[in-house]
Amino acid sequence: MTYGPEIIEHLPKLRDEDIQAMALHGGSSLSPEVIEALKVEIARRGLPRSLAEVADALNRPINAPQLKEVLDWVRKSNCPLCGGKEDPLNVISLKKVKSIIAYTSTKAYMVLGCPACIALHAEKATESCLVFGWWAIPFGPILTLMAIASNFKALKAAMNSEPTQYFLAYVEQNIGPLIHAMKSGKVGGQKFILDPWEKKRGLVS
Ligand SMILES: [Zn+2]
Repeated sequence: MTYGPEIIEHLPKLRDEDIQAMALHGGSSLSPEVIEALKVEIARRGLPRSLAEVADALNRPINAPQLKEVLDWVRKSNCPLCGGKEDPLNVISLKKVKSIIAYTSTKAYMVLGCPACIALHAEKATESCLVFGWWAIPFGPILTLMAIASNFKALKAAMNSEPTQYFLAYVEQNIGPLIHAMKSGKVGGQKFILDPWEKKRGLVS
């Protein structure tokens, strides 16, 4: 769906947060006239100029060099978990299994951090599986073993010098806010806009 000129007259009535959200997430759903009006509104309110630049950038398809620039910038940023800057960041997908009486559930989630933080989280996830996963027969032990194997494989991929598929997906999904953080020169300790990517499914014995 594309938003056309009909929304232009409403722009002055929107809250600053809505204007910011439109600039960072609107992308190709905004027509060129709306982008121009949005830029005027951003300037009128004295909001950061970088918002207008992001709205402009997202209105065109992001090309490979632009994507790579954002990707490299995020990888070289400070770790959001420990603040360290020595090693490139990566994203790992981990699993935790929990059995309660006859019910076993698996939770999958993502962690963005430096290799040391990723390894620590992977260890914690596996420990949690070993303590809480086994108890429901038969699914507890089966899902626990599967989760431990999956965490091990994920850790191996995240320790590789290349970004994982989850890292690439994270950058693509958050491209607007990430370009904004990059353009506004926020380096180090910035809060990452990680979608709360968490899936849960359960099995009853
Ligand atoms: Zn770290």
